[in-house]
Amino acid sequence: MKSDVFALVWIVCVVIGIALIIWAIIMCLRKFSNWRIAKNSKKYFELNKETCEKSKKKGKVILESCAQYRDSIKYFNLNRIIRCSNSVVSNSSQNSTKYLLKYSDINNSVEDMERLEFISKFLTDYASFVEEMSRASDKIKKNLPLFYKIFSDKRKLSYLVCGLNYELANIKEPFLYFLYISPGGRSRNENKITIDISTIQTLVREVSKSVSKKGHSKHQRSIMTNDLREAIKKRDNYTCCKCGNSVYDEPNLLLEVDHIIPISKGGKTEASNLQTLCWRCNRLKSDKSN
Ligand SMILES: [Zn+2]
Repeated sequence: MKSDVFALVWIVCVVIGIALIIWAIIMCLRKFSNWRIAKNSKKYFELNKETCEKSKKKGKVILESCAQYRDSIKYFNLNRIIRCSNSVVSNSSQNSTKYLLKYSDINNSVEDMERLEFISKFLTDYASFVEEMSRASDKIKKNLPLFYKIFSDKRKLSYLVCGLNYELANIKEPFLYFLYISPGGRSRNENKITIDISTIQTLVREVSKSVSKKGHSKHQRSIMTNDLREAIKKRDNYTCCKCGNSVYDEPNLLLEVDHIIPISKGGKTEASNLQTLCWRCNRLKSDKSN
């Protein structure tokens, strides 16, 4: 009985040993194959010249903008874990755009919008680069001798032949990771928001909306001058357009000039969008719109 168990353990060990040896040999052959291809990269480059030249060019562009991409991620304080309450984790999965804007350092400024646009362009270019490299690998593989065809690492082929660092294949999209762990550590909730191309485009849209809104408000407020206020009151005969109260009935009546469509809703500072209101009607209006 005991010897049976021994025999079984022995056989299992031998099988595992043989598998490990085979695996190690394959790994060595793969290393050797990759090394040979890198050594003869010029030859394979020439064999697939058109494809390889295109890939190499794209790779260089990616390589050049890599540092700026990483800087932008750091600048926006992305790629980090945020320890927060359980409800924040849940809400962040419902409304990822809002929580990305709230918990990153993305501001509603022209500069940040341009940075976001850069990230968006980088991610788009990068996706097309990775696709291109995979297509190039397919092509290169077709022209390889059988030995290399079997043993070389297909994913790395185009990088080896084009002389590009394989790390270029591992650039990740930015993310924010929301994590809740209860005080006792027993319950846990998490949500990782990956900022892919469509998310970044949504962020660009959100920020650009706020930026243009801010610009609009600032401009419309700046052209609201005292002269214009006086002119509108005079036009409306110093009478409230809502209740009809006027300075003729009530000499101390405080009259204000109101935007019919508020600036915050896209209204402009021009005579057709302005009216005279007494302060009471104006308060009432702004209370309603809040
Ligand atoms: Zn009034």
